[in-house]
Amino acid sequence: MPLNFDLHAHSNVSDGLLSPADLVAYAAKQGVDVLALTDHDDVSGLAEAQAAAAAHNIAFINGVEISVTWKKRTLHIVGLNIDPDNVALKNALALVRIARDKRAQQMGEGLAKAGIADAYQGAKRIAQQSIITRVHFARYLVEQGLVKDSKSVFKKYLVKGKPGFIEHQWMDLEQAVNLIIQSGGTAVIAHPGRYDLGSVNMLQLLHEFRAYGGVAIEVVTSSHTPPQYQQFAKLAHQFSLKSSQGSDYHGKGLSFMEMGRLADLPAGCVPVWQDWPQFAQT
Ligand code: AMP
Ligand code: MN
Ligand code: MN
Ligand code: MN
Repeated sequence: MPLNFDLHAHSNVSDGLLSPADLVAYAAKQGVDVLALTDHDDVSGLAEAQAAAAAHNIAFINGVEISVTWKKRTLHIVGLNIDPDNVALKNALALVRIARDKRAQQMGEGLAKAGIADAYQGAKRIAQQSIITRVHFARYLVEQGLVKDSKSVFKKYLVKGKPGFIEHQWMDLEQAVNLIIQSGGTAVIAHPGRYDLGSVNMLQLLHEFRAYGGVAIEVVTSSHTPPQYQQFAKLAHQFSLKSSQGSDYHGKGLSFMEMGRLADLPAGCVPVWQDWPQFAQT
């Protein structure tokens, strides 16, 4: 049996529901052999997850998912095998989190104008110690009975043009890729099919990403349809990029799929883990 890789998942250090240890336990139960924890803009769950992975006898990859602004759009860049103690990475992510909190306050103000009071405080309470994301706002609005589910909250309140949406300047693409490389990691474009870039911008993104030292794109992810697996496998080949796969699991009710159930990478893809020493193919 080939190893079951899941290289994209979230804990409650960002917008997932499970603690890092519980997420690892769940992944192990679902048959995942190699798990990467990739919380948004934060590496503070990695030590706990690593210890839990050792206890459950699965392999663990230190990861992160960095929010980036490129051509006025938000992109997500996953770093795999990063060093969670790397000072430059930690400092840069700390700044992202401070800006993220200011953004959340502005989101709260936007929602207040639309008649929804105390959303920042509500989202912060739900987030507890973690960063505040749009998912926490969605959970607050659902909890208050204002909207039926998280998906509808996004549509009605949290996407461009809606009262809780704030234009935000995240990290530059080049800086994110550099930080990942400097901390010993591999940079991967998360769920490229989600960005609605158009083909010219997509080609430009892949070109730039590769020029900065980016290595892989997610081909199989819960954000892609099977035809998109083929589409991005082809683009990966065209740009000599490797391919990654991940569920982007956030927890029950917040995810499009369970863990451990990903399709195989399409034939011809070079897996991002191909030259990782512990998984080197013989
Ligand atoms: P943020 O980084 O605060 O903008 O939050 C982004 C997170 O919101 C993503 O990582 C997803 O977990 C979640 N998300 C984004 N768009 C949607 C959507 N349309 N429906 C449900 N969740 C979403
Ligand atoms: Mn998320
Ligand atoms: Mn993402
Ligand atoms: Mn994600």
